[in-house]
Amino acid sequence: MGLITYMRTDSFRVASEAQAAARKYAMANYKFDTGRAVPEKPRAYRAKKGAQDAHEAIRPSDVWRTPESMAASLSRDQLKLYRLIWLRFLASQMSDAVFDATTVDIEAAGHFFRATGSVMKFPGFTAVYTEERDEDAEEERNQLLPELKEGQVLHLNELLPEQHFTQPPPRYTEASLVKELEKNGVGRPSTYAPIIETLRKRDYATLEQKRFKPTEVGLAVCDLLAEHFPSVVDLKFTAKIESELDKVADGSAGWVDVTEAVYKPLADALSTANVEVERVVIADEPTDELCPECGQANLVIKSGRYGKFVACPRYPDCTYRRSMAKKVNAVCPKCGGDMLERRSKKGRRFFGCANYPKCDFAAWNPPSGVNCIRCGAFTTASRVKAGTSYKCASPTCGHRWVAESGGGDE
Ligand SMILES: [Zn+2]
Ligand SMILES: [Zn+2]
Ligand SMILES: [Zn+2]
Repeated sequence: MGLITYMRTDSFRVASEAQAAARKYAMANYKFDTGRAVPEKPRAYRAKKGAQDAHEAIRPSDVWRTPESMAASLSRDQLKLYRLIWLRFLASQMSDAVFDATTVDIEAAGHFFRATGSVMKFPGFTAVYTEERDEDAEEERNQLLPELKEGQVLHLNELLPEQHFTQPPPRYTEASLVKELEKNGVGRPSTYAPIIETLRKRDYATLEQKRFKPTEVGLAVCDLLAEHFPSVVDLKFTAKIESELDKVADGSAGWVDVTEAVYKPLADALSTANVEVERVVIADEPTDELCPECGQANLVIKSGRYGKFVACPRYPDCTYRRSMAKKVNAVCPKCGGDMLERRSKKGRRFFGCANYPKCDFAAWNPPSGVNCIRCGAFTTASRVKAGTSYKCASPTCGHRWVAESGGGDE
């Protein structure tokens, strides 16, 4: 069953049947004292310039299939995604919310305090869905105030002395980076995910608290490109190529001319760079772990083509090296060694025995934290309808059982 329409699109267009269905659903399920759930006329959103409008917007194929009614037949991630699409679609067809902008002056012992914010008069679409805010600053400006009457006496709960500083712009999250790409006309709906994947796969940036932080390698590559390939990192140039490619797609430009115009200058820049650019050496990160092989130096973290690894700085006199791996809270069911979180050459996460290559035990799924009720080895877990299904990781046991959910809402 197709729950949503074609998803590789940035179109805002919604078929009139779908609009009608959403309006009917909203009117039937959201009743307000102070207004109607949907506006007089169905909502249409203007398309962005250059949007590929061959497909409709991403929406549920039938709005009456609520996320709740689909929960049993979807995986957790599928359900999360479906709920997001469903909520946003429904909200996009509902009435505006109405706020009163308010300034409250409060007098206390001869001092004045001022609070500015807004009071909600009518919830409209916000009864269904509001976007998660990225920037804290914005939240502060738009804070909701409770309803107050003039002359009302207020009680002081707490007095917090605070100083506000101007914040640097926050680092990009996956979502805000895509928004920025979109704003600049770089990338297309089908390439946003691969672009973000590349940042991580090549170790250009790591995600910390859901925000991208550039790595040493990322900074070095960026500097190098800016110096030797200015056109490649020029937003306008890249956006122009994207729109040229769109023209090739709709037949109004020939691909030979377009690729030639892009390729020739790039080929020239590459051959110049081959001669002129020096190899960039990324500084090693020190650790306080003594080399277990020679015992004469502390190990360092090096950056290589496949990401980071730990090695002895006395190379080539000492050849000790191992992959960067995080220890996880489980022991190898084959040999009792530590289990490490690792990445395959293709970047996929897996869990392997620290005694590799002497021991070859490995598992794709993370240890669940629950041990096998039969042999005590670690288990991996997956969600099933009735609760949690555990599978023993020991190749000689492999026991499976289902634990009913204990009423938690997760
Ligand atoms: Zn060594
Ligand atoms: Zn092992
Ligand atoms: Zn077992």
